[in-house]
Amino acid sequence: MHPFTYTRASDTREALNAGRRGGRYIAGGTTLVDLMRETVERPDSLVDISDLPLREVRATEGGGLRIGALVTMAETAAHPKVRALYPVVSESLELSASAQLRNMATIGGNIMQRTRCTYFRDVTAACNKREPGSGCAALKGHNRTHAILGTSDACVATHPSDAAVAFAALEATVHLLGPNGERRIAFADFLLRPGSTPNREQALRQGELITAVEIPALPRPLRSGYLKVRDRQSYEFALTSAAVALHIRGGVVREARVAAGGVGTVPWKLPAVERHLVGERPSAALWTAAAEKAAAGARTLQHNGFKPELLKRTVERQLRVVGGTK
Ligand code: SF4
Repeated sequence: MHPFTYTRASDTREALNAGRRGGRYIAGGTTLVDLMRETVERPDSLVDISDLPLREVRATEGGGLRIGALVTMAETAAHPKVRALYPVVSESLELSASAQLRNMATIGGNIMQRTRCTYFRDVTAACNKREPGSGCAALKGHNRTHAILGTSDACVATHPSDAAVAFAALEATVHLLGPNGERRIAFADFLLRPGSTPNREQALRQGELITAVEIPALPRPLRSGYLKVRDRQSYEFALTSAAVALHIRGGVVREARVAAGGVGTVPWKLPAVERHLVGERPSAALWTAAAEKAAAGARTLQHNGFKPELLKRTVERQLRVVGGTK
């Protein structure tokens, strides 16, 4: 392992100072330590932020929910407000990783986690994300689990987070704190598509710290849920997934929030599906017709040609589960 220094920040100012000098933030460490062991990541300096006061889940004035960056996945999933208001978030977390990892990993770390592309983690393979300009071994390699949406000639890796799919669907906001103060960024703009620079994954500036993820208030009643399709039922990443939230009143879909996972280089919002739903009466035919739009623009690779159809079926099934068929 590459040698590194370790400091534990006692307050936010100390953390930001260390971050400004190039220190890498660490909390649960469930991604970063693995990558350091594999020498994929070789930071010179780690700044442990576990003691910062970012462990609160609270309702916002507008009726949304603010989840502190250091709240663990398990705490978030079990929180009564999250369960009551946004079951899609709880379900996405409970279907992620293992119980042990969920007890350690934080919400901030969850949305920062790096791809599970096997070539990214194999330091002998060509990988533009790990080593810019070296090529992409996945393009002509084993790419069954890789992305079909938002890809580029430089990278076709999926974003691995389930919770990020729920946050994307709900149009959450990421709160950041940096040397120049606080700012907020829409979740849709936080994670970056690979383009020609797949090594740049988040719209973070030097030294910036994630302080919270905020889910906006959405009209009530809101039904929501998360479906994850994978090769085995536990401790596995999504081949496809669907986060769905529907506001149905008077027998009509008034608002719809839908996003997909396991298929995009970032959590993939599905505005065409949402538009098809709004103003319509729930029915099996509506769910089918809306889901038909889920894979628009998909570009498959040699081994993942099954994904567009699987994605449509995943979205259709979850629309049916959340919205009912009447
Ligand atoms: Fe690297 Fe992306 Fe290619 Fe995987 S898909 S090998 S992460 S460049």
